[in-house]
Amino acid sequence: MNDQPTILAIDQGTTSTRTILFSAELKILAVQQKELKLHYPRKGWVEQNPETIWQDTLEVCRAILERTAGRAEAVIAIGITNQRETTILWDRNTGKPVYPAIVWQDRRTGTVCERLRAQGFEPMVTARTGLLFDSYFSATKIAWILDNVEGVRARAVRGELAFGTIDCYLLWHLTGGRVHATDVTNAARTLLFNIVEQQWDADLLALFDIPAAILPEVRDNAAGFGMTDPALLGREIPVGGMAGDQHAALIGQRCFRPGMVKSTYGTGCFALMNIGPDFRLSRHRLLTTPAYRLNGKMVYAVEGSIFVAGAAIQWLRDGLEFFQDAAASEALARSVPDSNEVYFVPAFTGLGAPYWRPDVRGMISGLSRDTTRAHIVRAALEAQGYQTLDLMAAIEEDGGHQADVIRVDGGLVANGFMCQFLADMLNRPVEVPKVTEATALGAAILAGLAVGLFARLEATEHYWQRDIIYTPVMTEAERKRLYAGWKTAVQSLLHASGNAAAEPAVSDSRQ
Ligand code: ADP
Repeated sequence: MNDQPTILAIDQGTTSTRTILFSAELKILAVQQKELKLHYPRKGWVEQNPETIWQDTLEVCRAILERTAGRAEAVIAIGITNQRETTILWDRNTGKPVYPAIVWQDRRTGTVCERLRAQGFEPMVTARTGLLFDSYFSATKIAWILDNVEGVRARAVRGELAFGTIDCYLLWHLTGGRVHATDVTNAARTLLFNIVEQQWDADLLALFDIPAAILPEVRDNAAGFGMTDPALLGREIPVGGMAGDQHAALIGQRCFRPGMVKSTYGTGCFALMNIGPDFRLSRHRLLTTPAYRLNGKMVYAVEGSIFVAGAAIQWLRDGLEFFQDAAASEALARSVPDSNEVYFVPAFTGLGAPYWRPDVRGMISGLSRDTTRAHIVRAALEAQGYQTLDLMAAIEEDGGHQADVIRVDGGLVANGFMCQFLADMLNRPVEVPKVTEATALGAAILAGLAVGLFARLEATEHYWQRDIIYTPVMTEAERKRLYAGWKTAVQSLLHASGNAAAEPAVSDSRQ
C-alpha cells in the first residue's frame, strides 16, 4: 500500500496552519495542525509574524511526513491554499520580511479607501478587478508598508523586495527562494490584477503608487510552481496547485458547472457560484472573482458573504450562556414546533448583501411572555436560511444562472436542523459531502491535476461523495409566510435605524 501516490495539501488559514495528506482517491490519510496567533498592535490593526507562518508550515509538513513514514516517499505533489489578501513584503536576498504580515482583517487603510472612493475611482477599479474599495484587499496594505517603513520604497523600486500573499510567500520559501509566483485567484485579491485582461494593471499600480518590480508572476491554479528545496522535506517535491481558500473550497466541492454553488458556514458564511467563462459585473455589490484558471482558460465566480453565521450561535453560547456546546443548539431548536414568531436578525456588524447597511445592529423581534430560550435559538438557526435566501437571490441575478444545488461545508453544517431549514427556505436540495475539508481538498485536486494524477478537473467528480442530502419538505405557503416575516423584521430594523446612506462595505465575516 505504501507506494500508492499521495498529495500533500497545505492549508494556511487565519488562525491555524494545517496540512492534510490525501490518497490518490482524495481520501484523508492524516491531518497535522498548529494554531496561529494574531497580533493587535493598535485599534483596527491586525498583524501576523510571517516567519512564524513559514516555520509552522515547515513544521506541520515535516511532522505529517514523519508520522506517515512509508508514505513520505509517495508524495507526488504539493498544493497550497491560504487565507486571502494578507500582505507580506520581504527581501529577495535574505528572505527577511520588512514588516509583519498585514492581515486581511486589518482596517488601518480604511480612510485611504474612502478617499479613493470619494474621488470616483471605484467603478473603474471594479470593472477591472471585480472588487470594491476596501481595506481587506492587498493594494492599500502594500502602499502603507512602502510609505511607512523607512527605506522600503527605495529598496522596492530597486527591485530588492518581493511582495506576496501567503501562498506566494510560502512558495518562495518552499522552493528555496527560487520561485516568486502566485495564482490568479490570489492575484485577484490584491486590487492590482486585471481579471478581464488577466495581467497586472499598470493604471492600478499607478493609482496605488506601487512599483511593478515587487510583483510575482501569475500562473494557472494547476501549474508547475517549482520543486521544493531538497533540504526542507528530504527530497524535491513538485508544487502543483495553488488557490485562495474560498476558491479552493469551490473546487473541493466540485462546483465545475455554471450555476453550481458552494456555501461555507463557519463564523461567517461565504458563497461562491461558478458562472463560467464570461466575466460579469455585479449589480448588488457582490464580487466577481476567478473561480480557477486551467490551461490559460479562466472560469469566473460570483462571491457573496454573510457577516454573521456561526458567530450568532457562539454569541448565544458565550454571550447569553444559553448552552455550553454549539451542538446543543440543534436539540433546543427541535424542542419547539416553530420559532413562535420570533425573528433573529444577527446584524452584529451591519447587514451585507443585498441591504448594505453596515450602520445597523442586530435585533430579536416578536418576543412575548411565552417566548423561551428554545424559540430564540431556533430563530438564530432559521436566520441562516433567510440570510442565505437573501444572498442567493442576489448571486443568481448577478451570476445569470439558477443555482440548482447548494453544496455546503463548515462547522455549522453539523447542525441537521439548520441544513433542513436551509433546503426548505431555498426550496432546493442542500448537499453535505463526506469530506468536508473542502479547502484542502481543492488544493490537493489542483496539485494532482498538475502532475497528471487526474487527466481533467472533471475526472475528480466521481470521488465526490455525498454524506447527506436535505431535500425541501416545506409547503410553498409556509415558506412564503415565514420569509415574509423575516422581510418585515429586516425592514423594521432598517426603518428604525433611519435611512442614512450607508458606506458600502464588503464582508468582515471571516473574523
Ligand atoms: P471558522 O472556520 O470560521 O472558525 P468553523 O467552520 O470551524 O468556523 O465553524 C465554527 C462555527 O460553527 C462556530 O461559530 C460554531 O458556533 C458553529 N457550530 C459548530 N457546530 C455547530 C452545531 N452543531 N450547531 C450550530 N453551530 C455550530
